[in-house]
Amino acid sequence: MASILVTGGAGYIGAHTARLLLEEGHDVQVVDDLSKGYAHNVPKGRLHIINLHDAASLDALFARHRFDAVIHFAALIAVGESMREAERYFRNNVGGSLALLEVMRRYGVRRIVFSSTAAVYGDPDSTPIPEDAPLRPKNPYGESKLMVEKILGWLDRTSGLRSVSLRYFNACGAEPRYGIGEEHQPETHLIPLILRAILTGEPITVFGDDYPTPDGTCIRDYIHVSDLAAAHVRALEYLMAGGATDVFNAGTGRGYTVLEVIRAAERATGRPVPFRVGPRREGDAAVLVADSSKLRKTLGWQPQYESLEAMVESAWQFENSRRTR
Ligand code: UDP
Repeated sequence: MASILVTGGAGYIGAHTARLLLEEGHDVQVVDDLSKGYAHNVPKGRLHIINLHDAASLDALFARHRFDAVIHFAALIAVGESMREAERYFRNNVGGSLALLEVMRRYGVRRIVFSSTAAVYGDPDSTPIPEDAPLRPKNPYGESKLMVEKILGWLDRTSGLRSVSLRYFNACGAEPRYGIGEEHQPETHLIPLILRAILTGEPITVFGDDYPTPDGTCIRDYIHVSDLAAAHVRALEYLMAGGATDVFNAGTGRGYTVLEVIRAAERATGRPVPFRVGPRREGDAAVLVADSSKLRKTLGWQPQYESLEAMVESAWQFENSRRTR
């Protein structure tokens, strides 16, 4: 059993990971400033409402708990917003991470699992994308994550910090056992928007159908949030066993077009999805699919959800339960 600090643990992926850690017998404390996350996502008694820039409160928490490792999710995540508010993204995502790393150093905590993103690749030359593909973020969000990856690389060399950065592809779905799910405000992600279109009858806009893909719509690699949470636990175990600093793609390696996601949602829910085709969204890459062989081989990770329909179905269950709570 390890003592783990989860930052951003009131958010979508962090909360799923915190619950899985608890199920696997670890002791978990969550830090979240609730600027985006929800207290109801965190099991009672484990939430500390602290912003990462508040060094005094973080210090007090580290003094009370002897953490073996940190899993660091807390960050701003909206690509479009990052284009408009770049300073805030760098201050929050880079500055917040640095503040956390300084406290970790003071308390001798030398292992961290970091939430990175496929956005570090920008427009890839080819897919599936291996980890050693060129890193050319197209927006401040992706750049802020890449900056933290680089800081982690330097801290390995200068102070023996060991880290795993997981570059997420498209997280989706919900774990039915936990009763939590995706609740971004405002929601910008495809699957929750499709489900809301079904429920409200308001059509969703497909962002472009003139991409060089079989049906003209963008291809993404959708990974179920429970499988993503499991990747964090595997990464933690790897670091606890003495594993070296490394970077892994976290995706299934299978891509779906936006229209295929819509069809999968129709099958999963038995309801038609109202949609219309609009212009491209600025900053979207045509195809983003992970080469996830490194995660599978090195960390022994294997996704439980292979079917997109099952992933959407779990999101649909959550969307319905959310409406009746
Ligand atoms: N998308 C869309 N309409 C929407 C939201 C998203 O067509 O209302 C498309 C988007 O262009 C991308 C895919 O769905 O190709 C996934 O987008 P999302 O914002 O969920 O994740 P991202 O790939 O940006 O991380």
